[in-house]
Amino acid sequence: MENTETKLCAMCHQILKPEYYFCPNCGTKVQDSPLSTNPAEQTKLYIYSIVLPWIGFFTIGKWDGIKYLKSKDEKTKQIGFIACALMGISFVILCYVGYIQYNAAVKSINNSITSDFGI
Ligand SMILES: [Zn+2]
Repeated sequence: MENTETKLCAMCHQILKPEYYFCPNCGTKVQDSPLSTNPAEQTKLYIYSIVLPWIGFFTIGKWDGIKYLKSKDEKTKQIGFIACALMGISFVILCYVGYIQYNAAVKSINNSITSDFGI
């Protein structure tokens, strides 16, 4: 029978027990510690959830890329075009990184469900 619960450290190939959060040999983080549910952590998470979108909103408000792009001056317009292109590229990369992280999170949840049932 294949033992799916045996994990090896990615850095030093030490055999790890499923309950380990760090490799005992080299200290590499193996998996995330369980998330804290204490009231202080909850409050922090809720505050971030409220505040972060507003930070994004005000940051975009300070971005002058569109103003540059609408300018009649060729040079200014070119600067605006480059700014918009950079913003677009950055946004695509952000989406891509977000997508990878989302997939990794889903995969790790699936793995933990599978190991909980011992399949
Ligand atoms: Zn290790």
